[in-house]
Amino acid sequence: EAKRAKTQQGKQYQRAMSDKIKKRLAYIDDMKQGLEQGDFKLYYQAQYNHYGDIIGAEALLRWQHPIHGKESPALYIPIAEESDLILSIGQWVLEQACRDIKKLEQLSLPKSFNKIAINISAKQLIQHDFQVSVLEAITQNDIPANRLALELTENLLVENIEDSIKLIASLKENEIDCAIDDFGTGYSSLTYLKRIPASVLKIDRSFVTNIAQSSESAAIASMIISLGKTLNMDILAEGVETQEELNCLKELGCFHYQGFYFSGPLPFEQFSQLFK
Ligand code: C2E
Ligand code: MG
Ligand code: MG
Ligand code: MG
Repeated sequence: EAKRAKTQQGKQYQRAMSDKIKKRLAYIDDMKQGLEQGDFKLYYQAQYNHYGDIIGAEALLRWQHPIHGKESPALYIPIAEESDLILSIGQWVLEQACRDIKKLEQLSLPKSFNKIAINISAKQLIQHDFQVSVLEAITQNDIPANRLALELTENLLVENIEDSIKLIASLKENEIDCAIDDFGTGYSSLTYLKRIPASVLKIDRSFVTNIAQSSESAAIASMIISLGKTLNMDILAEGVETQEELNCLKELGCFHYQGFYFSGPLPFEQFSQLFK
């Protein structure tokens, strides 16, 4: 009796699992189609210095699911990462960002404006031809290499530390800077950080939110800031939403910011209006 119940349970479990897998596969198919149909868009969120000048922007992926509507990349990127689809998406992001940089180059950009950063996922980074594709996209669009930057998360780098260090150093030789994204949420040790030749540390939003009320957040942010300074890196705070957070960050010695207080992610057309 007990045995039969168990088999029954097992079957139910299998059915639930295969439903889940089917849903995933269908979702991946939707993404694949979306990519082919040109439904993916790149939005740009401007980054500012403490004088209020635009210093750059982060490219953020946008996709509207045919049924579920607008969804966060935080949801669909991990699903794309389960298949090789993330490679095609990542390649599209790279090329689209370079095309947009080319368009920006035709405007009169302020002196303060440096670069556009794109987010790179783990699977992309470990492709043996990753650097080649980046350099190719730059050459094909005829843009200065130093207009493009890459954002890599802490964990992604640490998982493959020796290769990451070599890759980032080599990109840097080619004038492509890297930023460590979501810093403080990962598990990288300071020993590792010291060896990674990244140019920017991005303080994760979780330490910026309510920084004025939370002495813990302020202490962590302050530690990240002095760490970055010691290692000669620029420090940029993510997710700045209020004047209060901004003032607090400024007092702690962080002078680069990104967040809704300044600007949300904008479609390219609107973003480029910021320079007119
Ligand atoms: P991220 O790289 O840390 O990007 C910052 C996220 O914070 C973005 O969410 C942005 O819209 C949001 N944000 C910016 N300012 C504020 C603020 O003041 N308040 C709040 N609450 N949020 C703010 P988004 O666009 O939903 O992207 C989520 C994550 O998805 C990104 O985190 C990044 O890890 C990933 N992602 C986005 N685009 C791409 C892409 O093209 N490729 C890859 N591999 N990942 C991407
Ligand atoms: Mg990012
Ligand atoms: Mg981030
Ligand atoms: Mg973040």
